[in-house]
Amino acid sequence: MKSRVSSAIDFNALGVQSDHARVPYSSDISAYGWIPVPMICFNGGNGPTALFTAGTHGDEYEGQVALRKLVQLLSRSRVEGRVIILPALNQPAVAAGRRNSPLDGGNLNRVFPGNADGGPTSMIAHYVATELFPMADLVVDLHSGGSSLDYFTVTLAHPGRDDVEAQAVRRLLDVFAAPYSIITDGSGGGAKSTLYAAAEQCGVPAIATELGSGATLSRDGLTIAEDGLARVLREYGIAPDLEAKQAVPTQFVRFIREGAIFSPCQGLFEPFVTTGEKVSTGQAAGVVHRLDETPSDPVPLTFAAAGTVAYRRFPTLTATGDALFGLFDAQ
Ligand SMILES: [Zn+2]
Repeated sequence: MKSRVSSAIDFNALGVQSDHARVPYSSDISAYGWIPVPMICFNGGNGPTALFTAGTHGDEYEGQVALRKLVQLLSRSRVEGRVIILPALNQPAVAAGRRNSPLDGGNLNRVFPGNADGGPTSMIAHYVATELFPMADLVVDLHSGGSSLDYFTVTLAHPGRDDVEAQAVRRLLDVFAAPYSIITDGSGGGAKSTLYAAAEQCGVPAIATELGSGATLSRDGLTIAEDGLARVLREYGIAPDLEAKQAVPTQFVRFIREGAIFSPCQGLFEPFVTTGEKVSTGQAAGVVHRLDETPSDPVPLTFAAAGTVAYRRFPTLTATGDALFGLFDAQ
């Protein structure tokens, strides 16, 4: 079914155009209104198309800021190919400073490939999958840990469906060059429902970043995003004059599934280690101070594998089943 999202942007026209992806939404106070998802297109007419998105989760800020700064940079740069930028993809979530949309509760990185007749979050996903992916030669979706996670700087990608796609994904990871890269099948998180998984299903090489934590702006994460985006635009010949720092080669690592720790109870989470720290098997990871028994001994948490802390829970208050720690290790 054709997307019901519209825009005044003619993606084939040369030059710079800015509008919204207009997502129909009928509410008590706006019966025939639409949600304004900001979108800008730079088209130099001769080269590949990059699709850059942030604000897929509204409380992750490094990518949102990096893309807004990139728009300013590209406005005074030579663009050969085409760059389509949506810095606040789930606009209602961005405006609310939340991971998920306050309108329908939708998690935009869990509803791909979306539905033309679904709620606003699903309609945005469907628009990206059916209207934007077909134009794109590469996709970068910028995430961070958000309100609940302190995440190490890492880039994620699905492997591609064949050798040609695998090489294209590998090139994108190498050029973006975050400190760490993980090729994943998504089985630990969003499976096939994420933006970058849906791009893979359309044959478009795509990466997703994790750049920081805690619904604030990491200076280091922002720099990694800005440098990576500039390198991609320069190396793919889309904005060949952009200055970009020489890449330090990314290190490929893998998630250690058995290393993840989830909260066994409701309580107050006291971590003993922090993100980026190396840990060993059997090492004490922290404790959870139970809320429902006073006084009681805190519940100990122990690492079942050795590795590097990829993420840890950010808020102290925790509930049964919350992800407290994840580990990765060099391959
Ligand atoms: Zn995210």
